[in-house]
Amino acid sequence: MQIDILTIFPEMFEGPFRHSIIKRAADKGIARIRIVNIRDFATDRHRRVDDYPYGGGAGMVMMIEPISRCIEHLKQESEYDEIIYLSPDGDLLDQRMANWYSTRERILLLCGHYKGIDERIREHIITREVSIGDYVLSGGETAAMVFCDAVIRLVPGVLNDETSALSDSFQDNLLSPPVYTRPGDFRGMRVPDILLSGNDREIEEWRMQKALERTKARRPLLFGPEPGEGNP
Ligand code: SAH
Repeated sequence: MQIDILTIFPEMFEGPFRHSIIKRAADKGIARIRIVNIRDFATDRHRRVDDYPYGGGAGMVMMIEPISRCIEHLKQESEYDEIIYLSPDGDLLDQRMANWYSTRERILLLCGHYKGIDERIREHIITREVSIGDYVLSGGETAAMVFCDAVIRLVPGVLNDETSALSDSFQDNLLSPPVYTRPGDFRGMRVPDILLSGNDREIEEWRMQKALERTKARRPLLFGPEPGEGNP
């Protein structure tokens, strides 16, 4: 899989993808992230990527020309499964959507800034809009990082047995049960005896019970009807 991220702040991505699971995925050649600087596709000599909004008002708007040229250039290599604009009014990212994108081959993520991007890009170039939550960020970069993290860890072969995604929250419409590690007793706060019992079947039952309790208490709506097949 390859995810191309279009941004006017490429430096923001220098840290987050160089560690942990995303790095491992890249090292194994399973999932590659490429950062593309939109400014490299600006047409004027000031390498301008934003301009004042028509009709007036505060804030700048990202221009259509550099973004359109950039995407046309990248499309020469091969088509994208999806061209995504990260936007607070897009479809909400959830585990189901992350699973869906983990099976795609090539995705483009466009990060907006300032007041957002010229509407014509959204109408004619973008194929999907995705939000990471009902709040407004100052740029799409952090949203792109969240998207990549949630999706790439689900690509087969990225996680090993130890970190398997199958037991994660939401993966089976259940939240994760509590987990513990040493010491067994910290200032009188004890790990539940069952986990020290060595009885695998009972431990499994206990975990299922806790997952159900937690889901009922915190996310009862997860028990709703199964959504249909296809692109969530
Ligand atoms: N004026 C716009 C917000 C612009 S925020 C509005 O009210 O809808 C600047 C950029 O941050 C956006 O172009 C988008 O790419 C990104 N962004 C902000 N909040 C986001 C969210 N919740 N999810 C995904 N991207 C977001």
